Amino acid sequence: MNILVINCGSSSLKFQLIDAQSEKLIAKGLCERIGIDGSRLVYTPAGGKKQITEAEMKDHTAAISLVLKALMDPETGAVKDLSEIGAVGHRIVHGGENFSKATLITEDVKKAIADCSDLAPLHNPANLIGIEACEALMPSVPMVAVFDTAFHQTMPEESYLYALPYHYYKDYRIRRYGFHGTSHEYVSSRAAAVLGKPIEELKIIVCHLGNGASISAVKYGKCVDTSMGLTPLEGLVMGTRSGDIDPAIVEFIANKEGKSVSEILRVLNKESGVYGVSDGFSSDFRDLEDAYEAGNENAKRAMEVFIHSVVKYIGAYTAEMNGVDAICFTAGVGENSPIIRDRILQHLTYMNITIDEVANHKRGEEIVISNPGPGPNVLVIPTNEELSIARQTYAIVAGEN
Ligand code: AMP
Repeated sequence: MNILVINCGSSSLKFQLIDAQSEKLIAKGLCERIGIDGSRLVYTPAGGKKQITEAEMKDHTAAISLVLKALMDPETGAVKDLSEIGAVGHRIVHGGENFSKATLITEDVKKAIADCSDLAPLHNPANLIGIEACEALMPSVPMVAVFDTAFHQTMPEESYLYALPYHYYKDYRIRRYGFHGTSHEYVSSRAAAVLGKPIEELKIIVCHLGNGASISAVKYGKCVDTSMGLTPLEGLVMGTRSGDIDPAIVEFIANKEGKSVSEILRVLNKESGVYGVSDGFSSDFRDLEDAYEAGNENAKRAMEVFIHSVVKYIGAYTAEMNGVDAICFTAGVGENSPIIRDRILQHLTYMNITIDEVANHKRGEEIVISNPGPGPNVLVIPTNEELSIARQTYAIVAGEN
C-alpha cells in the first residue's frame, strides 16, 4: 500500500509517497508560496530528475491538486490513479493532551485539532487546511493524523508541570508538551535496534539538533522528559530561538525598548539563538562552523553557547534517568557535524565516553561513534519523520492498531 505523507504549513506543503511494505520512497516534493505570487511545485520521483513547475496555487486545495496531477502524470508520475494511494498521513504539530498516538481522522478528531489551535496558532490551522484539502480531492481515501506531541505524552507530572499556580494547568492546560516527537520516537527505537537490545531495557537521550532543536530522555521506551515546552521556544539554544531564558527578561526589554510582549516574543523566536549570540552573523550552523574554524569571534561565541546548552541537558537527563545507556545525535546538525558532536562529547569524558574518530566522520549511516568501553554508546541516527508517519498511518489503516 502506498502512503502519501503530507506536512502542511501556512504557505508551503511538503509531501512524500512511500510504499508501506518495502518502506521505499516513490516520489517526494514541495509546494512553495501557496496563496502568494510566484508559487511553484518541486517534484522528484525516486531515482528521477527534479521537476520545477511554476503554477498559480491560490490555496492548499489547488496545491494538492497539482501534487496529485504530478504523481499521476503518465510520463513522469509514480502511480496510475488515485486507487494506488491507500491512505494519507498528516503531520500535525499539536495534539494537546488529547492524543498520545496516531489516529484515524474523523470529524471529532478535526475538532480536537482545531481546539489545540491556541497552543500552536501558526501550525494547527495550516495542518487542518491540509486535511480538508485532501478530503475534498480524495474523499474515499482514509486519513491519519500523526502528532508531534504524542510521543511525549508519557512524561510524568513532575516533568510536564510548570511551577505556576495550578489553576493555569487546570484552566488553560499550560504545561510542557514537547515537539519533534515523531523524530524522538523513531531515533530511540532505531538506536535500540542498532544496539541489538530491547528498548524496554535502555535509557536513551536523543539530541535532535537542527534549526529547531530539542532533547528527550527516553527511559525503557517511554519519553520521561523533553526540552521543548508549551511551545517550541523552550529548551536548547536553537538557530534563531533563544531556548531557556529568565522570563523576567521580557519585562526588562519591554521597559528598556518600549516593546510589546508580542514584539519581544518575535525577537525570542526569530532573532535570538545562535543568530542572536553571533550578533546576527548567521543562524545556519554550516556558516557558523566555517567561521568558527577561521577564528571568527562571533561564530565562536555562538557555538560555545549552543554546545553548553546541549551538554547541560545531557547531564540533567542522565541524572533524571539515574544513568544513560545511549546518546543519539540526529537532524541537520546532529547528523552532519562531526565537529559539533566532538565538541559536545569532549565535555562527557566523566561518563567514560571516548570518540571513534573514523566513525564520527562518516555520513548518512546509522552508526555507533563511541569506542567500546564502560560508558554509554553514542550513536548517529539519521531521522526519518516521513517514514515514521507512513508506518504509523499504515498500522492504523491496515488495522494493526
Ligand atoms: P534541520 O532543521 O534538521 O533541517 O537542520 C538544519 C541545520 O542543519 C542548519 O543550521 C544547517 O546549517 C545544519 N547543517 C546541515 N548540514 C550541516 C553540516 N554539514 N555541518 C553543520 N551543520 C549542518
